[in-house]
Amino acid sequence: MRRRLLSIYHRLYGQLGPQGWWPGRSRFEVIVGAILTQNTNWGNVEKAIRRLRQEKMLSPSAISALSRRRLAALIRPAGTFAVKAGRLQNFLAFLRKRYGGSLRRLFQDEPARIREALLQVSGIGPETADSILLYAGNIPVFVVDAYTRRIFSRHRLISHQAPYHEVQALFMNHLPRDAQLYNEYHALLVAVGKEYCRSIPRCDTCPLRWDLEHHGIPLPVKDS
Ligand code: SF4
Repeated sequence: MRRRLLSIYHRLYGQLGPQGWWPGRSRFEVIVGAILTQNTNWGNVEKAIRRLRQEKMLSPSAISALSRRRLAALIRPAGTFAVKAGRLQNFLAFLRKRYGGSLRRLFQDEPARIREALLQVSGIGPETADSILLYAGNIPVFVVDAYTRRIFSRHRLISHQAPYHEVQALFMNHLPRDAQLYNEYHALLVAVGKEYCRSIPRCDTCPLRWDLEHHGIPLPVKDS
């Protein structure tokens, strides 16, 4: 399994190159992006972050000083802005209460404790918590998303219904605990999911077609 997962990674890296994730100028900006990107595309998140930056609001203290209404207005381009404003405020309340408002103190804590605590914050699920740990904290936790699930179920490495922790364990139990590897691997899977492994897959030109053929797996025709 380790060999296959690494072969897939090296094939993707070789053909698609480094993805330069996560786009963000600071750890806090990465966290804001991880929360805002839920159920929307990255272009909309960028617009919302640009507005926060223009208003000099990209710090925990600046956002904490905003009313929910004002924050929602600023992040409007990210969609479901009232809900997401609440989630950002929930995260900041957690940060203040548990770590005195300090991201440095947050990431000095034990990774398992941080994850468990993040999952208690209303509106933060496993994918967002793990994105924060990996991309803002440089902590080796594999991020699982819908693209990961679709690609690896089509390649018959997991079942389509596999729960989050099971998909995550596939990677973390077989790959070295390496934040840079997990960072790039996840980003490459997103690139494949966007360009090739769509609802109707484009296996003909996909860099991973070789893996299907090597394991005698018929090409999928649509979401399975
Ligand atoms: S598009 Fe086809 S070859 Fe590419 S990842 Fe999806 S199932 Fe695999």
